[in-house]
Amino acid sequence: TDYLARIAALNPSLNAYVSVDAAKTLAEAAAADAARAAGTAGFLTGVPLAYKDIFCQQGWKTSCGSKMLDNFVAPYDAHVVEKCRAACLVSLGRTNMDEFAMGSSNENSFYGAVKNPWDLAAIPGGSSGGSAAAVAARLAPAALGTDTGGSIRQPASHCGITGIKPTYGVVSRFGMVAYASSLDQGGPMAQTAEDCAQLMNVIAGFDERDSTSLERAAEDYTRELGQPLSGLRVGLPREYFADGLSGDVASVIENAVNELKKLGAEVVEVSLPNTELSIPAYYVIAPAEASSNLSRYDGVRYGHRAAEYGDLTEMYEKTRAEGFGSEVKRRILVGTYVLSHGYYDAYYLKAQKIRRLIAGDFQRAFGDCDVILGPVAPTAAFNLGEKSGDPVQMYLSDVYTLSVNLAGLPAMSVPAGFAANGRPVGLQIIGNYFSEAKMLNVAHQFQ
Ligand code: GLN
Repeated sequence: TDYLARIAALNPSLNAYVSVDAAKTLAEAAAADAARAAGTAGFLTGVPLAYKDIFCQQGWKTSCGSKMLDNFVAPYDAHVVEKCRAACLVSLGRTNMDEFAMGSSNENSFYGAVKNPWDLAAIPGGSSGGSAAAVAARLAPAALGTDTGGSIRQPASHCGITGIKPTYGVVSRFGMVAYASSLDQGGPMAQTAEDCAQLMNVIAGFDERDSTSLERAAEDYTRELGQPLSGLRVGLPREYFADGLSGDVASVIENAVNELKKLGAEVVEVSLPNTELSIPAYYVIAPAEASSNLSRYDGVRYGHRAAEYGDLTEMYEKTRAEGFGSEVKRRILVGTYVLSHGYYDAYYLKAQKIRRLIAGDFQRAFGDCDVILGPVAPTAAFNLGEKSGDPVQMYLSDVYTLSVNLAGLPAMSVPAGFAANGRPVGLQIIGNYFSEAKMLNVAHQFQ
């Protein structure tokens, strides 16, 4: 009830939640109390949690920030929601996001922009901006987000919270509205690395309903918390500290690296030479997959349907013209173009080759270090409206996050300090495949 009261008081100015339903939340809380009374409570029983509006949650509107799904009530739970229900976590509601998770500022939502709780003139980051703002403003102790090209790490960085994007395949995508299926991965956002680790213990694990879900033994993501960092080899990629990184973000990262040195870490320079190519490669691959995934919104099976139309083709056209926002339409157009006959080899295939090079860069770097550190974004949160008219400027702000998704690696953002304008700055920790527990410990030691 404390959280519901804070939501009622503060959400009108932040716009972090798009749906809350006090009756449902209180019923789940009562069930958690009953579990506690019956002695069947688990470690997280009764802990409140917010869901990004991308995860299907039975009986809740699951709109993915889009007019297209504004009338869609999920008939089933996503795998992660199922897991959280089983752990008796209490759902606080659904958080705002960029439409279909496309964006870096949370200004692309059908439900309006989210504000950054640290400074209402600033963007919270995107696309999981509602989740980040809710946690930062204490409207939820933790939230789930998704990260296709930075959407957990970048809003976590801009809102001064901790968020982790797991290794691709560790968290099931079943029931998570698809954006770019080979890149999408769900993960926790919370105040601390320890809280994220606890949530990873709940949501990670094999699910046969997601064909890319990995069959691995369950692991305890808290197991390395508290281990000393002495001997840890930390890699700083030369390309992440070059032109384009703002001075105040650079000095926050430098201080963070010095802190880790004091804790016993050794610093080495590494190189990720294809970093710059991550932007063009990602903005070919992600729209290509999106154009295919979003073809399901045809006005027939579910979601928005135009009220008036002549024939079937006109129904499709009007439905999609009305239901999608402009960024989503841009991505569908780009994606359809790069996949079309005659352009496929020049764009899509080339982007896939670059993807392989990027994954190779990381493997070479991990020969010399255990984790890679760097900024999450080139600047602290920019102002609302500052980049929304210029998609290329917006895409460029993803330069340090996209390559991780292209390689399928785990990465996180942990609060590291503040920019000159007082806005939070996160440190990015990138690990090799399945090194979540190690990364969470690096973040934990640092907090
Ligand atoms: N900003 C990137 C995009 O718009 C990443 C979004 C995401 O990770 N969902 O595609």
